[in-house]
Amino acid sequence: MVAVRVVGGGLAGCEAAWQLAVAGHDVTLHEMKPGKRTPAQHTNRLCELVCSNSLRSNNVENAVGLLKEELRRGGSLVLRAAEHARVPAGDALAVDRDVFSRFIEDALASHPHIRRVSEEVLRLPDDGVPTVIATGPLTADALAADIRARVGRDALAFYDAIAPIVEADSIDRGQVFAASRWGKGESADYLNCPLTEEEYNAFVDGLVHAEKFPLHAFEEPRYFEGCLPAEVMAARGRQTLAYGPMKPVGLTDPRTGRRPFAVVQLRKEDVAGSAYNLVGFQTRLTQPEQRRVFGIIPALRQARFLRYGAVHRNSYLDSPRVLDDRLALPALPHVRFAGQVTGVEGYVESCAIGFVVGRMLAAELSGRVLPPPPPTTALGALYGHTRAAQQADKTARYDPSNVTWAMFPPLPGRHRKDDRKRLMSERALAALPGWLE
Ligand SMILES: Cc1cc2nc3c(=O)[nH]c(=O)nc-3n(C[C@H](O)[C@H](O)[C@H](O)COP(=O)(O)OP(=O)(O)OC[C@H]3O[C@@H](n4cnc5c(N)ncnc54)[C@H](O)[C@@H]3O)c2cc1C
Repeated sequence: MVAVRVVGGGLAGCEAAWQLAVAGHDVTLHEMKPGKRTPAQHTNRLCELVCSNSLRSNNVENAVGLLKEELRRGGSLVLRAAEHARVPAGDALAVDRDVFSRFIEDALASHPHIRRVSEEVLRLPDDGVPTVIATGPLTADALAADIRARVGRDALAFYDAIAPIVEADSIDRGQVFAASRWGKGESADYLNCPLTEEEYNAFVDGLVHAEKFPLHAFEEPRYFEGCLPAEVMAARGRQTLAYGPMKPVGLTDPRTGRRPFAVVQLRKEDVAGSAYNLVGFQTRLTQPEQRRVFGIIPALRQARFLRYGAVHRNSYLDSPRVLDDRLALPALPHVRFAGQVTGVEGYVESCAIGFVVGRMLAAELSGRVLPPPPPTTALGALYGHTRAAQQADKTARYDPSNVTWAMFPPLPGRHRKDDRKRLMSERALAALPGWLE
C-alpha cells in the first residue's frame, strides 16, 4: 500500500487521514501542535473546535444537516466522534469539545496505518509523496508564504470579506428592476433595488450605528481598498456609498423613467437564479443587525439570508482557478488541498472536503478512479463550490462559503416551495450510495 502525507490535524486533515487509512494506506499526519499553535487555538488537541461547540442543524431538510447525514452514512470519523460527544442542543448537533477531540485522537492513535508526527511543515513538499494540505484558515506563515509563491499573490487570500446572499423568492419583485449598468451584458443578471434620498440616508445611518461582530485579538482589520466593508465606507462620509457600490449611474428605473438616487445591485449567485448576492456589501455587522439594516432597503424588507456577510482572517485559495478537479496543484500534482483552505467555511464543510479528498485519493492510490460525488448530493454540491460549478458569473471573485441550497442543481419540474428542500434531500440520499460504493 502507498504511503501518504497529511498536513494539519484539524477537521479536514483528521477525516482525510482516516479515510485513507481505512482504505489501507499508510498515513503520516503532520500537526504542528504542541510545538506551535495558530492564534485561534487554545489546546494541543487534534480537531480542536476553536469557537462554537455546535456543528449546526441536524435536520436533513437543512443543507448542513444533509451534509452531516451523508458523512454519517459514509463512515466519517468526525461525525462518529460528534455523536459520541453529543450534548443536548435541540435541532443542532453540539458536542463536548474535549470528549470530541479525545475520541478522534484515540481512533487515530490506535489505527495501525496512522502515524502522527508533531512538526510544522514549512513548504510544499516536492518529493512526489502524495500529500494532502489541510492546514486551515490560519495556515502557519512559512507554509502560507510558500503556497503563495507557487500559486501567485492574488490566489491565496488572508482575509475573507464576503457579502450576504439572499433567497431569490424573498426579494420583493415589485421594488426592483432588472438591468445591467449602461445596458451592458444580460440585464436579467442584475436586480437593482432603488432607494430614495431619504431611504439612502436611513440606510447609511443604520450601517454606521449598527452593532459590529467583534474582531478576535489576532485580527487587526487590514482591509483592501477594493473590498472595504460597507459600514467602513459609510463611516467615511455620507455620500461615499452613493459614489461607490450604490452609484446609480447607467441605470434608469423603468417605472419612473429616471435615475434613482441610489441603488443596491443584486447579482445572480447560481445558474438557477435561486439566490442573489448583494454586490459590494461585505460587512462585519452582526447577523440580527444585517437583517435589520438591509431590511431598510425596500426590496429586502422580507429577505431571507442564505449566507450572512462576514470579514475575518482566513487563508484560502482561489480554488476554481488554481486547483484541478482533484483539488491538486497542476504544477505539483502529488499535492492536493482539503478543508477550509479550499474556500469552504465551517467545521462540517471542512471535514466534508477532507472526506471527499481522502476518498478520491485513496481510490487513486489503489489504481481506481473515483469521480467527485454527484452534484445532487451535499458532498458533491460543496465540492462543486470549490470548482465554481453553480456560480452564475464564472469571472466573479471566489468567496468562501458554508454549504447552501444554491450550490445544488435545481430540481427538474415545478414544485411547491414547501416541498423543495425535502425533495432535494431525498434526491441527494438516493444518489449517495452509488458514489460511496
Ligand atoms: C477564529 C475562528 C473561529 C471559527 N469559528 C467557527 C465556528 O464557530 N463554527 C464553524 O463551523 N466554523 C468556525 N470557523 C471556521 C472553520 O470551520 C474552522 O476553522 C475549521 O476548524 C476549519 O477546519 P480545517 O480542518 O480546514 O482547519 P483547522 O481545524 O484549523 O486545522 C488545521 C490544522 O493545521 C495545523 N497547521 C497549520 N499550519 C500548519 C503547518 N504549516 N504544519 C503543520 N500543521 C499546521 C493547525 O495547527 C491546525 O490544527 C472558525 C474559524 C476561525 C479562524
